[in-house]
Amino acid sequence: MSNARVALVTGGTRGIGLGIAKKLASKGFSLMITGRRSHDEAAAAIAQLREEFGDGSLKIQYCQADVADASHRERLLEDVEAIFGRLDILVNNAGIAPSIRADILDASEESFDELISTNLKGPYFLTQAAANWMIRLQEQSKEHRCIINIGSVSATVASVNRGDYCITKAGIAMATILWAARLTQYGIGVYEVRPGLIETDMTKGVRGKYDSLIKGDLLLEKRWGTPEDIGIAVTMLASGDLPYSPGAVLTIDGGLTVSRF
Ligand code: NDP
Repeated sequence: MSNARVALVTGGTRGIGLGIAKKLASKGFSLMITGRRSHDEAAAAIAQLREEFGDGSLKIQYCQADVADASHRERLLEDVEAIFGRLDILVNNAGIAPSIRADILDASEESFDELISTNLKGPYFLTQAAANWMIRLQEQSKEHRCIINIGSVSATVASVNRGDYCITKAGIAMATILWAARLTQYGIGVYEVRPGLIETDMTKGVRGKYDSLIKGDLLLEKRWGTPEDIGIAVTMLASGDLPYSPGAVLTIDGGLTVSRF
């Protein structure tokens, strides 16, 4: 079994996941990073992480795995076990927005099903499988192990042109509560990090719209969030720096959801 603590970050080669991977690597975590992209497509991001954070003992690996696919999830955990022999942190970050933003009066069932599979069912059952393994690991040696879900302010803020997305994030909020209620007894922390507007590929198409809103009074801190902002929050949780807080939700949104008159 490796001595370094091991984190599995889904969707870790770009966007928020890459920001999380960088911060975890900077704190000495070994990493298994996943995504839908092939090894060749992910190679540049992995090479850069290794160059920046590899210190000989630190291992950074990539596994092509679709979180929506049960057989991929199974193979992913088998790979983590074969390479690292342990799992300390699971970050359920991978997620998609609807390919077409459609009013909920018109949006398709196809989009709903796709989002539920990727954003909710995938992380829910990856958590189930990881949790069963983590429980066994805890019985062998007690460590700070945890599961961190990347939710969204969309769990509570309605966007009527992407209702399917909002519903998946509301579901992830409940998944965090459920798994916290079930896993705390084993010393496994379960948390949600809830980002607001973060500058990534996902928000590329709406950048102009939100640039103007950010200049106005949408946020208290008038800037886009960065993947690093989220990485800092995740690394704090992964490091065990938020004790006595099962199911905690860290909202990292520049004040987007602070109610004001
Ligand atoms: P990006 O679109 O920039 O990146 C998405 C990542 O998820 C990619 O690495 C992608 O892998 C991976 N991914 C997507 N689908 C799958 C799948 N089926 N299996 C495995 N990996 C998959 O998105 P963000 O970085 O912006 O978003 C990351 C998370 O943060 C999501 O859960 C999102 O909902 C959430 N979030 C984002 C906000 C934002 O403003 N950007 C705000 C609030 C929450 P690949 O590169 O291989 O395609």
